[in-house]
Amino acid sequence: MENFEVIIVGAGPAGLKCAEVLSKANIKTLIIEKKETIGPKICAGGITRKFFRIFPDFPNNLLDFSTSEAFLHSPKHTHAIQTETPFVFTINREKLGQWQLERLKKEMVTIKTNIKVLKIEPNKVITNDNQQFGFKYLVGADGATSIVRRHLKLKSEKKIITLHYKTPSTAKNKLEVFMDNRLFNIGYAWKFPHKNYISTGCGADTRNFSSAKLKSNFHKWLTNKSIDLSNATYESAPILFDYRGYKFENIFLAGEAAGFTSGLTGEGIYPALVSGEEVAKLIINPGYIPNEIKNLLHYKKIQERFLTLLIIAGPFRNNIFNFIVNKLKKPKFAEKVASGFS
Ligand SMILES: Cc1cc2nc3c(=O)[nH]c(=O)nc-3n(C[C@H](O)[C@H](O)[C@H](O)COP(=O)(O)OP(=O)(O)OC[C@H]3O[C@@H](n4cnc5c(N)ncnc54)[C@H](O)[C@@H]3O)c2cc1C
Repeated sequence: MENFEVIIVGAGPAGLKCAEVLSKANIKTLIIEKKETIGPKICAGGITRKFFRIFPDFPNNLLDFSTSEAFLHSPKHTHAIQTETPFVFTINREKLGQWQLERLKKEMVTIKTNIKVLKIEPNKVITNDNQQFGFKYLVGADGATSIVRRHLKLKSEKKIITLHYKTPSTAKNKLEVFMDNRLFNIGYAWKFPHKNYISTGCGADTRNFSSAKLKSNFHKWLTNKSIDLSNATYESAPILFDYRGYKFENIFLAGEAAGFTSGLTGEGIYPALVSGEEVAKLIINPGYIPNEIKNLLHYKKIQERFLTLLIIAGPFRNNIFNFIVNKLKKPKFAEKVASGFS
């Protein structure tokens, strides 16, 4: 059995960021990724300015789209948040994954793709092709259906179900978000432009709304908006936002596996990068104080308080959506909202 200081399950943004920091500290690391190619993931690919705090050198030519204008719709109002410089962007997940891969210190990282971790035992993992790998530390960066999380017997109750279409398009499209309780409950629908396609999707909290109802409402909405799906590809995936801790002796969780994702917006790329980096720093130095994780959790708590308010509001939810979109017309409030993206 080959032994590693750290084994990371999953090569998404969290796993790759964790491996980057570990490898640069000369820690012998193994990444196990079940997909053949690193990067592709069902995702709208939306990022905000915060992303560049982690990757200040991210090349502009890898961005699919950037805008200083985001349109928000409620049943009664429409308003565009506008800033002087771009604040929302979209990226292609495969390109992000491949770019992150290049940042690893190659001699310190072994990458095994196309194999899946099936079982975790004290200090070793077993894969679907019956290989065994030993670890001192294990990092579960394996997303919404994490096997590492299941091994830790953590509940996964807070989830968003998403429905997503990728439609080929090179037209100039706007970035838009649509809130309507009658259609998407506490969730929302989006249109996120990319270089060669537009991502149109919706998501809602599964505790509150059935996926069958969401699907039927989404299709009604697509028809009303005359969105042509003839060449579109359809995808669906859950988003886990049920945070129940990230450090369990020598086992860590990062990114969506830990539920760091926002339950309000579904934003998961930034929390994945931040938590992947923080977990690596904790492994390198057990005395490290992970303030960035504290900040993530603080922000997540505020968002989940708002989510609870939306749940309680029930049939009056549209009043809240209308109030917010209308209030965005006030520059000070709009500025405050936009600063949350930075
Ligand atoms: C429809 C949709 C739209 C979204 N839009 C956005 C958006 O616009 N902006 C945003 O910030 N976030 C968005 N998200 C959320 C975002 O995609 C995730 O939160 C983010 O990818 C989490 O990163 P991660 O590294 O934690 O996990 P992931 O990116 O899910 O990576 C986990 C990796 O682990 C691998 N894996 C899983 N199990 C095993 C196993 N047993 N063995 C080996 N490998 C394994 C998987 O193949 C995967 O590559 C969206 C999600 C969905 C579903």
